Amino acid sequence: MTARILVVDDVHANIKLMEARLMAEYFQVLTANTGRDALEICENGQCDIVLLDVMMPEMDGFEVCRRLKANPKTAHIPVVMVTALDHPEDRVKGLEAGAEDFLTKPVNDLALITRVKSLVRLKLLTDELRLRATTGRDLGVEEMLDPKVIGTQREKARVLVVDDRPSSYERIVKFLAVEHSVAVIPDPHEALFRAADEDFDAAVISLSLSDFDSLRLCSQLRSLERTRMLPILIVSESDQDAGVLRALELGVNDYIRRPIDRKELLARMRTQIKRKRYNEMLRDSVQATIEMAVTDSLTGLHNRRYLDGHLAGLFDKALGREKPLSLIICDLDRFKSINDEYGHDVGDEVIREFAVRVRKNVRNLDLACRFGGEEFVVVMPDTDIALARIVAERIRLEIATHPFIVKDGAAQLPVTVSLGVSTLESANDTPEKMMKRADVALYNAKRAGRNQVMTEAA
Ligand SMILES: [Mg+2]
Repeated sequence: MTARILVVDDVHANIKLMEARLMAEYFQVLTANTGRDALEICENGQCDIVLLDVMMPEMDGFEVCRRLKANPKTAHIPVVMVTALDHPEDRVKGLEAGAEDFLTKPVNDLALITRVKSLVRLKLLTDELRLRATTGRDLGVEEMLDPKVIGTQREKARVLVVDDRPSSYERIVKFLAVEHSVAVIPDPHEALFRAADEDFDAAVISLSLSDFDSLRLCSQLRSLERTRMLPILIVSESDQDAGVLRALELGVNDYIRRPIDRKELLARMRTQIKRKRYNEMLRDSVQATIEMAVTDSLTGLHNRRYLDGHLAGLFDKALGREKPLSLIICDLDRFKSINDEYGHDVGDEVIREFAVRVRKNVRNLDLACRFGGEEFVVVMPDTDIALARIVAERIRLEIATHPFIVKDGAAQLPVTVSLGVSTLESANDTPEKMMKRADVALYNAKRAGRNQVMTEAA
């Protein structure tokens, strides 16, 4: 796991020290000694994580962090604030400025590396999703990526607290309930079950359950599909460093030490929930992008790309199960003259209406696609040539018999369609050959005077 870490500090010796430790773990290190330089490097997309000193002249770390988080181009880059031990209030200030994490100077080696690694993991995931979502830019994905938008999506988060000491969980619940809806489940077995079954936004798990290994619970949550992405924050005692490191290695997202500081807990929870929602949003937009990519925007039917991807599958399935498979290619007659005479808007209306009528005349399991322009393809599983001909004829009649109403009812257009039908013939057949035969049949229908159905020559 390699990543580019930007170390920002106004003291050269601090930069050198941090650089050496990170390079020993094979991270690439970039450095900046002012906030302005740091902002520029981030804006240019050169780094994956920022380690940010708080005390700097001109622009301090809080300001740098706020600016990074306010800029949609840099808001997704995780920021770790490096604070001084004698200013504990800086940790909360940093988290409130939007930082994902903080480290306290002098920086503990293991904490540094483990936390950087855990943020790199998250960053890689987010990058991957952003990359895929960017192809859907037309959908407004860029705005959806803006964390400010995401923060306003849903108000109360559902937090699962796993702790079996009432004195401890009562305190945690009191703190969290200000912003979230909290469920305490002292029994870890039940907690795992409920986490998989319900829609929690985060889990807070005590590292000191009385007769159960909390790390086992964390590892189980990480391995279940339903809870793999659930943010987990563990609560540790000050002498449980080994357990904390082990937990982070297992993929736990963050930890907090007792005695719990209310502001720190809320800030850490906010960060985790923000990130979870950010990733969910990205996943949804990726899903939408994928659907867009295989859908014809004018008609809502599948497009040619989808057909190309699925025809072979339907073909193999039919062959394997020894079932018939047929397809129809439909092409609107003299469509160019409709466009020329009435304009493209009317042409689009005709295409849309044609799609509606085709869909009405085929079954749900049939695959209807707009192949391009005024050409459509219907693939029909479990359908032999005789039945396919009947369906084609039904479509032809449906089009020819009822004129198309266009321009909000102001005009009626007679429209006709020519159709070519083919069917899977033998084990030597291929989807390409089937398409080709339907295309030849369509050509014959056009040549014979249009508004008719032709079947492939046997
Ligand atoms: Mg400094």
